[in-house]
Amino acid sequence: MEKVLEQLLEQYREEMIEDLCAVLKFETLTEEGTQGAPFGRTMNDCLNFVLKRAEEMGFACENLDGYVGIIDSGEGEESVGVLTHIDVVPAGEGWILPPYGGQISEDGVIFGRGTVDDKGPMIAALYACRAIKESGLPTKRSFRQIVGTDEETAFRCMKYYLKHYPQPTMGFSPDAQFPLIYIEKGIGHWEALGCFDAAKEGDIVLTALDGGSVRNMVPDGAKATFLVTETGCDVIYEKLEKFTSKDKLIIEKCEDGQLILAAKGEAAHASTPEKGDNAVATLLRFLQTLTYAPLDACTTLNKLAELVAYDFLGQGMGVAHKEQESGELTLVGSVIKFDGENFSLGVDTRYPIDIPTEQLKADLAAKMESIGLTFSPFDFKDSLYVPRDSYLVQTLLETYQDFTGDMKSQPLAIGGGTYARAMKNFVAFGPGMPDEEELIHKPNEQISCDALMRLAKICCEALFRLAR
Ligand SMILES: [Zn+2]
Repeated sequence: MEKVLEQLLEQYREEMIEDLCAVLKFETLTEEGTQGAPFGRTMNDCLNFVLKRAEEMGFACENLDGYVGIIDSGEGEESVGVLTHIDVVPAGEGWILPPYGGQISEDGVIFGRGTVDDKGPMIAALYACRAIKESGLPTKRSFRQIVGTDEETAFRCMKYYLKHYPQPTMGFSPDAQFPLIYIEKGIGHWEALGCFDAAKEGDIVLTALDGGSVRNMVPDGAKATFLVTETGCDVIYEKLEKFTSKDKLIIEKCEDGQLILAAKGEAAHASTPEKGDNAVATLLRFLQTLTYAPLDACTTLNKLAELVAYDFLGQGMGVAHKEQESGELTLVGSVIKFDGENFSLGVDTRYPIDIPTEQLKADLAAKMESIGLTFSPFDFKDSLYVPRDSYLVQTLLETYQDFTGDMKSQPLAIGGGTYARAMKNFVAFGPGMPDEEELIHKPNEQISCDALMRLAKICCEALFRLAR
């Protein structure tokens, strides 16, 4: 690393820590806002604080209608971008120092919601750009720091930015992990919708289904509620006895003609379904053994079970696919709802980089239509792919290796989504180190003052090399 950059950053140390602590004190949860402060007043106050600090350092700044902060420096037709965010997830319980206190422990660790995700990296990047600017070292590309406000919820900040400004030529987002993430699968969230006759005659009537709570998790619980005659009740007990996964099902209640059947599973992130056990799938497979009213629901759910309840690789759906670098398609039916008439199954699909989003949507829609359900897309995010041998990936990897001496860790391909996918030719780069305990979104999120300094140095060197 250039000596002058390192010296400048060392000089900024106390100021940088102070700025981070100040930023941590804003409780920047995404709220419904007003014009000019679309995610609430606190968010906008925090954004303005950051921009004021940047202005004092001599950057050209803009608050883009409360959606995004833009911090520019340097000259050049091409630009290097660094993408961070100030919004946070709720603090939750179990903190040893207050989550919005901006406090430092005796051994020099800064505590607070956002220290790692992503206010710490935001401040580190700001000071990294400052050091380059102050050093007077020549670069052929300019710098643009983009400070977002809606990463945790819906990326509305980035959608707004892209409507008003071009994207930087290349860049990174220190909002995930080192060494870097160069592949992220496409992420499709959608629903299968149906409407059935509310006929309530029969020995077994299915009146409700309820399972899972968020689309991007493998559900660990699901329930079916039936109205049953005595005969119907006997049938269910009998089928249950023969069911291969009977240990995952229990009858929670059986009285006054009502029977509640609960399926238990194991939760996991939908990007790694092999780590979980899908309770909704278990319940759908058991329902296949019964004949119940409404009959049209029974027929359709039996077919649906064939498509989604026997694997998590899209085999039943006929969309299974594996690509060498990005891996396999995954498909998880995660949230099930039925009120006796209206049915919905929320699905999380992660797809390799060589499947075009529109083609996948068409395939899923056709499949749903073929069993009498409607395909309703909720949100589809294209995959992220920056070639491994690209200038961006190689430069960032070398920077990481030079700082850490870790030559073993390789660029990562993941099924999850990071902020980087909001931009073309961006990758996630830091701040988490391989084998480091993950405290993102958990209590006692923290960063040591030394780690903050190291992060600022790595960001600084990466930005400088990319702009040189
Ligand atoms: Zn984040």
